[in-house]
Amino acid sequence: MKKVIIVGAGIAGLTAGIYARQSGFEVTIYESHTIPGGASTSWRRKGYLFEGGMHWLTGSSPKAPLNKLWREVGALNDSVKVLNRDPFYIFEHEGQTVHLYRDIEKLKRHFLEISPVDRKEILLLCRDLEKFEKIHMPVTDIKGVKVKNKTSMPLSALFKVIPAMPRMAFYSKMSSKEYSERFKNPLLKLLLQNIVGPENNATGLLFTLSTLASGDGGYPEGGSLGMAIRMAKYFEALGGNIQYGEFVSKVSVKNNAASGVIINGEHIPADAVIVTQDTLCAIDTLFYTPICEKWATEMRESTIPMLDTFISLGIEANLSDLPESQFFTLNEPLVCGGVPERVIGLNNYATFKGYAPEGCTAVTTAIINDSYDFWKKCRERGTYEIEKQKLADAYIRILSNKIPRIAGKIAVWDVATPLTYERYLHSFKGSWMTMMGKGDQKNYPSKPETIKNIYFAGQRLMVPGGLPVAAVTGRKAVQYLCKDTNTMFQGSI
Ligand SMILES: Cc1cc2nc3c(=O)[nH]c(=O)nc-3n(C[C@H](O)[C@H](O)[C@H](O)COP(=O)(O)OP(=O)(O)OC[C@H]3O[C@@H](n4cnc5c(N)ncnc54)[C@H](O)[C@@H]3O)c2cc1C
Repeated sequence: MKKVIIVGAGIAGLTAGIYARQSGFEVTIYESHTIPGGASTSWRRKGYLFEGGMHWLTGSSPKAPLNKLWREVGALNDSVKVLNRDPFYIFEHEGQTVHLYRDIEKLKRHFLEISPVDRKEILLLCRDLEKFEKIHMPVTDIKGVKVKNKTSMPLSALFKVIPAMPRMAFYSKMSSKEYSERFKNPLLKLLLQNIVGPENNATGLLFTLSTLASGDGGYPEGGSLGMAIRMAKYFEALGGNIQYGEFVSKVSVKNNAASGVIINGEHIPADAVIVTQDTLCAIDTLFYTPICEKWATEMRESTIPMLDTFISLGIEANLSDLPESQFFTLNEPLVCGGVPERVIGLNNYATFKGYAPEGCTAVTTAIINDSYDFWKKCRERGTYEIEKQKLADAYIRILSNKIPRIAGKIAVWDVATPLTYERYLHSFKGSWMTMMGKGDQKNYPSKPETIKNIYFAGQRLMVPGGLPVAAVTGRKAVQYLCKDTNTMFQGSI
């Protein structure tokens, strides 16, 4: 039996571990943190649970091809309830609200009521959503791998892509903000800009809306950490081994082939190594000689990282009458990392059992901007904690103005900055996804050309990243491993 080492027990590492075990390899995952999950995580403070990762999971619907993968790796099963909130968001601007309904007809009627002058664009958007709704992220086998059960994209699925293709080309040329400018109504404009972020490619916006419309994109009960723990337990039940608190400093390479990893100066031998640390970091830091193949150079040059500062509050008030997820505009901006933010999102977990003490509420906000340099300077100057406190104070003030009954009821606050993510994930600037810029559709290979027995997996390898990409690339890495070792890939439930 061949010995495989996996660097990282995030969703990509756990997925790879499970498929590798199922396919008969002896697998050890080395994870620097004390828990599994990586960016798919949550944490407790003073009795409050802060969901720090997943807000929606592509493939949570049994109709999506990815659902089979999530079930194969134990992320989902029949006893895991999936919550599909509707409306998905509520956006509020100057006392007016717009609801982002999942149902396309309902969304169309609602948008038309709000802005009859945007009729043409609204009808066009809804028509495109009907086309995009039929497209799912494919899960297929790589060419030339022996598989126990074949997974291919049926021809009917390919035909469903055809009507959407010209429109994909149309949206790929613009950012969400540029797309939103086609609408006259300020509320609709703001909503459309903020669903995936103003600078993200409009294709991402369309795919997000159509995923929701297709009944996918739910939140599995137990959230991010619950899902990671289910996968870790499944991996261990299959005979896999996870070593927590072990940081891999280098992958050792002998005669142009990976021969193991270095942990605390000790060489641990392996026949193959699957790296799920952010590939962008791994290619520079995990090898004695950085990987300089064409794709690696392109990755260094073209990737716009998605970073956030994550603010969580434990509030001694029951907010179950408020929306689960809302965005609102601010009169006075919230300055985060030196950047004035005029729109913030609020996730309200009041109705989620176990997320807060009885009668209390956990709320979170992810402020997506590149504040890495700001926080780094604060750390160097010794003002990091003070600036975190200032940000929390400003946020609490804004929220208390909006929801006066929470004033003076904050039991706990928590701020995670890009430096926090960097410390835990060892990713580029603490990023956890790739921003899909204009015309930016890069996919990267699962293995380098110049070193044998090494495989890459993780969010960085395909846009837009996230949990589905982590899982799909984890599976793909094991298929390459199976192909190279002439092993049958197993992957059935
Ligand atoms: C606030 C937030 C919201 C999100 N919302 C969603 C969402 O709604 N839907 C969605 O699909 N995605 C979402 N994501 C993104 C998603 O969580 C990530 O893209 C995904 O979890 C990445 O998985 P990964 O396995 O590729 O990488 P990671 O999660 O980064 O895992 C890498 C693991 O490797 C470990 N590691 C790294 N280097 C080493 C080393 N040298 N030695 C040992 N261990 C190492 C790390 O500790 C980590 O556990 C969100 C992320 C955040 C932060």
